[in-house]
Amino acid sequence: RQEVYRELRKKPSLTRDGVPVDLLMNAGLAVDLPQLTESGAAGIGLFRTELQFMVASTFPRAEAQERLYRDVLDAARGKPVTFRTIDIGGDKVLPYFKGAIQEENPALGWRAIRLTLDRPGLLRTQIRALLKACGGRELKLMLPMVTELSEIAQAREIIDREVRHLSRFAHHLPTSLKLGAMLEVPSLLFQLDELMKAVDFVSVGSNDLFQFVMAVDRGNTQLADRFDNLSTPFLRVLKTIADAGLRNDTPVTLCGELAGKPISAMALIGLGFRSISMSPASIGPVKAMLTELPLQELEGFFNDNLMAPSQKLPMRALLQAFADDR
Ligand code: PEP
Ligand code: MG
Repeated sequence: RQEVYRELRKKPSLTRDGVPVDLLMNAGLAVDLPQLTESGAAGIGLFRTELQFMVASTFPRAEAQERLYRDVLDAARGKPVTFRTIDIGGDKVLPYFKGAIQEENPALGWRAIRLTLDRPGLLRTQIRALLKACGGRELKLMLPMVTELSEIAQAREIIDREVRHLSRFAHHLPTSLKLGAMLEVPSLLFQLDELMKAVDFVSVGSNDLFQFVMAVDRGNTQLADRFDNLSTPFLRVLKTIADAGLRNDTPVTLCGELAGKPISAMALIGLGFRSISMSPASIGPVKAMLTELPLQELEGFFNDNLMAPSQKLPMRALLQAFADDR
């Protein structure tokens, strides 16, 4: 199998009927970087910057942040990299963060963009480090756990201020800056067109989005197999997002665990996703599926089944049968 996947790296990333799909990888530490070449990923779709904070014993200094980001971009050698601003809080606690609070429901609590907008010094330092590390290159930046569009506007103000500051001191700035939002909170589903217009790209965090759409704690093993992330309602949610991206000409990608299983990656591509990001070990198996996928047939399958008022079998079973038949 490993041999087969190695051979596949040389093949273009296309469905059987010739539609290109970007297979990107998730990463978070310098040790992940060699995987970029080994996996054959087209880039890094999610760089979890909080990992550097989680393995440290105090807040990483600005210089250390900048150094890591520069190493990531150097290792990527021109392949696209999307950095996510620190996503701490919730299940990701920093023992040295003195401002942390006790929360009844940390997943619904003071985390990610909520926390960093309240502690703008953290965000400012990180953004400055990213801007400096990306001098002369493209910076793709995304915000985790966005709930309201005003959070994007606030983050943009902080970014603009840092850009102005650095240009005043004649720093080498990124050639372009693309700002994206992660779609993890269902409130955004009811303002999709506004969201698509407010950002340069959207990345679905399916781990958190599934948790909040189904009201099921993503870490609770008792419930881990209870609800299916290939069930009709969740697939309809994903289709709604992909359609909104297309309608507004805003690139949409997905970077949760869902992208890493061939059967669910197949479903995502059938629903309209043309870019998905997964753990590096999944790239080979997903690419093997991709090159065999008759996409037009799968789109026909979804047209017939996804909105049908009554299905004889669960969607997962129907999708599995579709895959088995081919
Ligand atoms: C997600 O929620 O799907 C995601 C990619 O972010 P994380 O798993 O880091 O919360
Ligand atoms: Mg998340």
